[in-house]
Amino acid sequence: MKAVIFLGAPGSGKGTVASILQQKWGCFHLSSGDLLREIARSNSETALQAKRFMARGELVPDDILVPLIELKLQGVDNACCIFDGFPRTLKQADLLDEVLERKNARLNKVILLEVSQAILLQRLGGRRVCRVCGANYHVVNRPPKQSGKCDLCGGDLYQRQDDTEETILKRLEVYTKDTEPLIKRYSDKKLLERINSDENGEVIAEKIRQILTLNGCVPN
Ligand code: AMP
Repeated sequence: MKAVIFLGAPGSGKGTVASILQQKWGCFHLSSGDLLREIARSNSETALQAKRFMARGELVPDDILVPLIELKLQGVDNACCIFDGFPRTLKQADLLDEVLERKNARLNKVILLEVSQAILLQRLGGRRVCRVCGANYHVVNRPPKQSGKCDLCGGDLYQRQDDTEETILKRLEVYTKDTEPLIKRYSDKKLLERINSDENGEVIAEKIRQILTLNGCVPN
């Protein structure tokens, strides 16, 4: 397995670009947020705990999330796995190293999607997500063909509970405090590649595809 991390603030386009790379290039898109939203639909104690953290825009504890990540990776052996939203802390970066080691894999690349604050807020405010398959849309930038319905599976689109102004600001604060230190870690390891993510998803996905091809993660 090849492993690539997408780093970037909420709204930087990680999920959109990763899903394009999954559809077009057969990458395996592992979104920690999608994983947690999936779990949160059940009524288990774990689900209730995860939901509480997510609704506040805070990080879900590692002992809930990391086993879910490891489970999701079972059977992913030959693909290029894009980690979208994980790791988000230095501790999680260590945990990911351990997970990859157990799979005899290593981290090939870290892509930092950089975007201005004004665009982040515009993207998050207009984001809509498919309730069934998790595909991302935007009311202006990436509208579905039929209003309120997913192009891929026909599922209903909804606005995430944590895409409200107050929670968005909290999530951006958490990103600055907990996640930004990862930039130095991966830059020191010479794994980091910065991408300007102000453009639309297709354009960014193509730029990243070229980087991943050069690194042997995605076929030419
Ligand atoms: P996302 O879909 O990546 O914006 O994540 C939505 C929410 O899920 C975050 O605000 C956190 O509450 C939770 N979450 C996602 N990824 C992680 C992570 N790596 N560590 C802890 N919590 C996470």
